[in-house]
Amino acid sequence: MPATSKSPLFKVRRSKVHGLGVFAARRIRKGTRIVEYLGDRISHKVADQRYEDKLEDDGHTFLFIVDRGVVIDAGVGGNDARFINHGCDPNCESVIEDRRVFIEALRTIQPGEELNYDYQIGRADDDPPNVDEVFACRCGAVKCRGTMLWPAKRPKKRAKKPAGAKAKSKARPKSKSKSKARARR
Ligand SMILES: [Zn+2]
Repeated sequence: MPATSKSPLFKVRRSKVHGLGVFAARRIRKGTRIVEYLGDRISHKVADQRYEDKLEDDGHTFLFIVDRGVVIDAGVGGNDARFINHGCDPNCESVIEDRRVFIEALRTIQPGEELNYDYQIGRADDDPPNVDEVFACRCGAVKCRGTMLWPAKRPKKRAKKPAGAKAKSKARPKSKSKSKARARR
């Protein structure tokens, strides 16, 4: 049966990259709005509380940061968009419009190709040293940066002050835009 405009654009099945993945069921043209990222719309505070215990060794959540006020938790009431894996050289991107999140094709995608977008998970001052391992990327792209975090490397630490110099303690403002609970954006 020929594909009609009503046949599904994608299907969910097991992925070699991670768990389940989302695959093009037919040709998807560049610029196509493929799916909306749906789920429970919550505050950063609630997201932190919900996933506090998951942070240390398991980065796997279905959180997506919309802005300073809203995080979408696709672990609650989410749709297939939550199964789209991260990729460092992705064929899709996430677009935020009117505080809603859509996954759109960055280029034309052939049937059977796995969909992915760059999660660009934010770094935080209190990240554990193994944070890049926790969020290791195995997307297989030539340009794979090895981690789902963004930027690719943590900023270099400043050289230590010479001994005797008075240590200045700067008050560190709490990041308002970043949820402690790991979220893609
Ligand atoms: Zn990668």
